Amino acid sequence: MERYDFIAIGCGPYNLGLMALAEKTGLRRVCFEKRQEMMWHEGMLIEGMTMQTHYLQDLVSLADPTNPCSFLNYLHETGRMQTFITQEQNKIPRTEYNRYLRWAAERLSTIRFGHYVSDVQVVEDGFVVTVESGGQTTQVHTTSLVLGTGAEPDVPSGFEQVIHTSDYLTYRDVLRDRYRVAVVGSGQSAAEVFLDLMRNATDDQRIDWITRSNHFESLESGKLGDEIFSVDYVDYFHGLPYDSRQELLRSFERFRHGVNPETMTSIYEALYHRTAEGNPERTEMLTQVEVESISYDWLTHRLKGTKQYTHEVVEKEYDLVVVATGYRPVVPSFIDRLPIVWEAEGEWAVDETYRVVMSESLHGQLFTHTNLEHSHGPAATNLGMAVYRNALMLNEMSKSTVYPIKHQKPFTTF
Ligand SMILES: Cc1cc2nc3c(=O)[nH]c(=O)nc-3n(C[C@H](O)[C@H](O)[C@H](O)COP(=O)(O)OP(=O)(O)OC[C@H]3O[C@@H](n4cnc5c(N)ncnc54)[C@H](O)[C@@H]3O)c2cc1C
Repeated sequence: MERYDFIAIGCGPYNLGLMALAEKTGLRRVCFEKRQEMMWHEGMLIEGMTMQTHYLQDLVSLADPTNPCSFLNYLHETGRMQTFITQEQNKIPRTEYNRYLRWAAERLSTIRFGHYVSDVQVVEDGFVVTVESGGQTTQVHTTSLVLGTGAEPDVPSGFEQVIHTSDYLTYRDVLRDRYRVAVVGSGQSAAEVFLDLMRNATDDQRIDWITRSNHFESLESGKLGDEIFSVDYVDYFHGLPYDSRQELLRSFERFRHGVNPETMTSIYEALYHRTAEGNPERTEMLTQVEVESISYDWLTHRLKGTKQYTHEVVEKEYDLVVVATGYRPVVPSFIDRLPIVWEAEGEWAVDETYRVVMSESLHGQLFTHTNLEHSHGPAATNLGMAVYRNALMLNEMSKSTVYPIKHQKPFTTF
């Protein structure tokens, strides 16, 4: 049986960054990814949309800017450095970020695509991991596991035959061909889909945007506010009792679900241009509507909801509905076998080095990038913060300081 010091499960940007940084360690390692190739949120790679994070918040730079998988090296090797400098933007196109990830994955020989991890068993000296690939099942041994299985679309049960934003590009041509379309939800994904549909809408198309929020809200982007994406804040948040963390997460809705102000401006402009020739606006923008169900029959979607505060019933018919109802963490069922300490249903206890807490002492350790918001706060899903997390995990697994955690103190004291 092959033996490893760690096995990373899933190859999204978090574990891809881990594998890139791990090149500097002597750890025996492998990352198993069930997809056949590196791909990042392909349903939302809409042309013109940009990352929400700075280009230096890439896979490695915050821990080691000299790593060959840095974004700057990608620019250098692909001959894009000069045009990148000339365009003077810190936020790169999302399509380019995906291309950068694919470039980085090709450089690393430790990632095995087309390998699905189907089981994990606790053994005396670590874990035995079962992997399915090309119709074959193999078992390998590891001391540590790093879970990076990401998140999956979260669609409420009463919503029939709707399109989740994660599949938007697959259905974009079909959506452009329908007369009555609704976008439900008001986060960044909903805004991007609404904008893309509006920019390409014909005069007789009706595209509605419906949210339960009080108004279409912009993302808080004040620089001091952004200091919650710092190691200091993560440590502070992690040290709070569970109930306080829950309360804080609710108060951070704007950080988590607000829309980037540039996208909002573009939407307003698209709406304005559509009415410039005096034609009536066919689009309805509805706020404070709690959508309760979307039923489907005879090629029609019937949306039912209630207007909060006035309690008015809202009923609408559409040819297609796109929902931006978010994602839920993917925690594989085999994880249930481990003696995990749970803080609440589905929310495990995780220590400050991102190790899942066990009720019994095990030789092996499980680190996680997935299902962390309740324990590490809004920064848990931030690409920049994932680099610190990877540095911490690698130091722990190497039992030495491979990456000194040299973080700059924010101006705010938490
Ligand atoms: C549209 C969109 C845009 C975003 N933009 C930003 C941004 O600009 N800045 C930012 O900071 N954050 C952003 N985020 C949030 C976050 O950074 C991303 O969701 C990021 O992809 C999370 O990375 P990940 O590695 O956890 O998971 P994913 O990228 O979801 O990857 C998980 C991988 O695990 C694999 N997998 C799952 N189970 C198994 C298994 N059993 N065996 C093998 N493989 C498995 C899956 O196939 C998948 O490839 C964005 C999120 C979305 C949805």
